[in-house]
Amino acid sequence: MRADAVHVRAPGKINVYLGVGARSDDGYHPLATVFQAVSLYEDVYAVPSDGFSLEVAGAVDVSGVPLDDRNLAMRAAKLLAQTAGVTAGVHLRIRKGVPVAGGMGGGSADAAAALVACDALWGTDLGPRGLHDLAARLGADVPFALHGGTAVGTGRGDVLTPALARGRFDWVLVLSGQGLSTPDVYGRLDRMRMHGDALADDPTELLEVPAAVLQALLAGDARDLAPVMMNDLEVAAVSGRPDLELALADGVRMGALTGIVSGSGPTIAFLADGPEAARALQDELKATGREALHVHGPVPGARIID
Ligand code: ATP
Repeated sequence: MRADAVHVRAPGKINVYLGVGARSDDGYHPLATVFQAVSLYEDVYAVPSDGFSLEVAGAVDVSGVPLDDRNLAMRAAKLLAQTAGVTAGVHLRIRKGVPVAGGMGGGSADAAAALVACDALWGTDLGPRGLHDLAARLGADVPFALHGGTAVGTGRGDVLTPALARGRFDWVLVLSGQGLSTPDVYGRLDRMRMHGDALADDPTELLEVPAAVLQALLAGDARDLAPVMMNDLEVAAVSGRPDLELALADGVRMGALTGIVSGSGPTIAFLADGPEAARALQDELKATGREALHVHGPVPGARIID
């Protein structure tokens, strides 16, 4: 890598809590969510260039990642250039560690990393506020990837309030080879609710993260957090995916405190009672032929790596 390239690392996320309101007229759903950034990362290198280009590689299957203007990192770089009046270009090299279309916000992490990397490369110096505003224009999950840690997200998930979380939480992620499209999962939830499906909760009038969730995070207590974790999208993500229901049941039987679909899925996040329990759970899940990763959170948002 060239010495003048800027390397930024940004984390994937888990939604520890995800309440989804009724679809509004603009097609979006209001959310009450708690994000936690976890130690599964996207590495983005911004290399000086005259034009705009992109290459993607990684530890995960990257075949579904667009290499043109549909790529969120490319959109981020161009938005920053346009906003700040930059005439230079950039070559973005992305190394993905977050599963594609996995419900962990990998594309959003790439966008956040590209903003930070290009801001440093071009010396635009937008500062946290300026970068946050651009992030919110790129996608609802992008501001969180910029900030990291643990945060409550309202609005479309882009209005962030940091949440205090003590200590560390150990998660075991079960990855799925077959991704899920976020708009499809929301659409399925809408249909289930419309048809009064007994499994799908009615959209709550009062969208709020329960105090018990915030208290468990503040106390750093995984045992308190497990029973209050919730994801309104889970029922839609697992419908027609018996493999996911089986994995959820297996993980809990193998000793997880609880298991939850991350965001719109299909990645499953199991909460473990500490690092040793997580390692044992990871081994057991792997022994059934599943791809299981032990990660921890919270970790910082997009930041420059020397
Ligand atoms: P969401 O943030 O919508 O919950 P996700 O976390 O499930 O999404 P991502 O991997 O972020 O999944 O991306 C979902 C889709 O967005 C991909 O299938 C791909 O078509 C498109 N995409 C655009 N840019 C990227 C990127 N940099 N990395 C991965 N996918 C991208």
